[in-house]
Amino acid sequence: MKTLLDLDVNNKKVIIRCDFNVPLKDGKITDDTRIVAALPTIKYCLDNNAKVILLSHLGRVKEEADLAKNDLSPVAERLSELLEQDILFSTETRGQELEDAVQMLQPKDVLLIQNTRYEDLDGNKESSNDEELGAYWASLGDVFINDAFGTIHRAHASNCGIASHLPSAFGFLIEKELTALSELDNPEHPFVVILGGAKVSDKIGVIENLVTKADKILIGGGMAFTFLKAKGLEIGKSLLDEENIEFCKKVLTDYPDKIVLPIDVAVTNEYTDDEEYRTKSIEEIATDEMGLDIGPKTEELFEKETASAKIVVWNGPLGVYEFSKYKKHTDKLLAYLVNNNIKTILGGGDIVAAAANAGYKDKVYHASTGGGATLEYMEGKKLPGIEAIK
Ligand code: AMP
Repeated sequence: MKTLLDLDVNNKKVIIRCDFNVPLKDGKITDDTRIVAALPTIKYCLDNNAKVILLSHLGRVKEEADLAKNDLSPVAERLSELLEQDILFSTETRGQELEDAVQMLQPKDVLLIQNTRYEDLDGNKESSNDEELGAYWASLGDVFINDAFGTIHRAHASNCGIASHLPSAFGFLIEKELTALSELDNPEHPFVVILGGAKVSDKIGVIENLVTKADKILIGGGMAFTFLKAKGLEIGKSLLDEENIEFCKKVLTDYPDKIVLPIDVAVTNEYTDDEEYRTKSIEEIATDEMGLDIGPKTEELFEKETASAKIVVWNGPLGVYEFSKYKKHTDKLLAYLVNNNIKTILGGGDIVAAAANAGYKDKVYHASTGGGATLEYMEGKKLPGIEAIK
């Protein structure tokens, strides 16, 4: 893997694509985690005398009204505090003013360019990887570092476009993600996959890619009910992904020993946190009940299945973790994996949010920061942002 350690950045204009897509409220940053996460790569470049040019997207820009609310200048302010130095900010994504600012850069200076998606207003140029735009941004620098993992599954001008014109490498953040996720390419065995979350449709690619590599796939969450339905069981009002019943049947037929389904579930009558729930065996679900979490026997079964795993990858919570009553088994299984030092990769999205809420995010082997990017990696797809640098 080519990382920034392989590039000479001394006295060079180094373009770094960061992920500064931070939550904002009334123009104020409410969570600066992503800015903090970008610091090691930026600091390395500054320590090595680079002239740093930063690019990032923020939100989506579809119409004029989106410009002001996705203005990147609050990031410049916060970055200045974190780096304890002045940050130059270009309000334009292209033009003379920006080019002059770049020309004036001295080693250890930092210039942040306005939201790359401002370019989407005129013909979706950033998001469609417009050739001219990628070449233009590349012309501002000498080398390129991609450190925005969250967009690595997309071919945009600010990642793939620039990379096709300059010597390029990954930053520390992407290196960390890819080092961890690459363990899924040729996993150590036993290799156990845990899948939960809402829909089977979101996980079909992951199942298809990992079912041959995994020793077991444990299925919980809303998606388990489509599998149970495929086995001919009554699932009441539980989540059903009707279109994918046939897919589930096929997986169960082709891999009968690999797929592990819940044996008991927490059921209730309404989708709310307020009502009491009952634990029932999966054969006992009534027509007016819905399952919102796995049950304790399933929890025990999942612990048994992961006990000797050399590596576990987990995507999607086992229940409606947003409700206090139905996060129980997601939290307990996380605790089990952490307390037993089982090497666990959390595959981004809601399972990472659940782990963060329960205090396990920093205790697992790796909690991926990517949502769609991680899922596509787990699907075995070639990701444009990786290919562009390879
Ligand atoms: P995903 O984005 O596919 O990982 O799905 C996460 C969502 O799945 C969360 O919002 C959970 O509330 C939801 N979920 C998990 N288990 C269930 C369930 N048994 N019934 C309905 N939704 C569920």
